[in-house]
Amino acid sequence: MARIFVVANQKGGVGKTTTTVNLAAALARLGKRTLLVDLDPQGNATMGSGIDKRTLQRTVYHVLIGMCDVAEASRVSESGGYRVLPANRELAGAEVELVDFDERETRLKSALAAVDDQYDFVLIDCPPSLSLLTLNGFCAAHGVIIPMQCEYYALEGLSDLVNTIKKIHANFNTDLTLIGLLRVMFDPRMTLAQQVSAQLEQHFGDKVFKTIVPRNVRLAEAPSYGQPGVVFDPTSKGAKAYIQFGEELIERLSHLP
Ligand code: ADP
Ligand code: MG
Repeated sequence: MARIFVVANQKGGVGKTTTTVNLAAALARLGKRTLLVDLDPQGNATMGSGIDKRTLQRTVYHVLIGMCDVAEASRVSESGGYRVLPANRELAGAEVELVDFDERETRLKSALAAVDDQYDFVLIDCPPSLSLLTLNGFCAAHGVIIPMQCEYYALEGLSDLVNTIKKIHANFNTDLTLIGLLRVMFDPRMTLAQQVSAQLEQHFGDKVFKTIVPRNVRLAEAPSYGQPGVVFDPTSKGAKAYIQFGEELIERLSHLP
């Protein structure tokens, strides 16, 4: 059975896509069969996996509206070593079109059920809003991974997100749990970052992953080469952190039921 995780944070630019792409590549390196689902119409995870979003005949959009299945729409990321259910701008239309569908929040969940035995991990990259697309991500998943920057407003946004997860757990998906919080784009020279990081550990304890992803320019450069940072420069500090994160996640899961 595949473990399905959604990488979520209602803020934009906090490292969701970077985390999804690099975790997928790290898990692939560790020998795990991995599918990345791009649920953001911006298609950044698709491009960052080396798949040109402009040339796609079939995407996650077609899967959500029932025009094809996951196997038909998914592609190999040659650079990443995982498969991708890609997205492009067309996906923005799904938001409106799905409103008329039955069980519109569980379309992705149903579609993924068909490939459940083909993967060890499914990672879902979400857009920065609580849209029907994100709701599909939350309903399909067993767990949430929250990447966050250690800055002043981070804790405030976090309590909103934790409440959202509680509501989804209560109303839509009783399987959903918070797997953990990942500190990303971390700058240890900033006192504020150190303070917020310490507060996070106080409030969330074990839910804070031990791995900290530093701010690292190689991670930001990699997408323009169509490669995950983990592949683009495996020796960089950012890549090493994401590989360590993959290992930590697997280790953490071994303690869950
Ligand atoms: P989101 O998906 O949450 O909008 P992204 O993953 O696209 O966020 O990251 C936003 C920007 O920050 C991108 O330009 C990305 O390359 C850059 N970035 C993400 N993580 C890091 C990091 N650890 N170090 C440096 N730049 C990063
Ligand atoms: Mg993104």
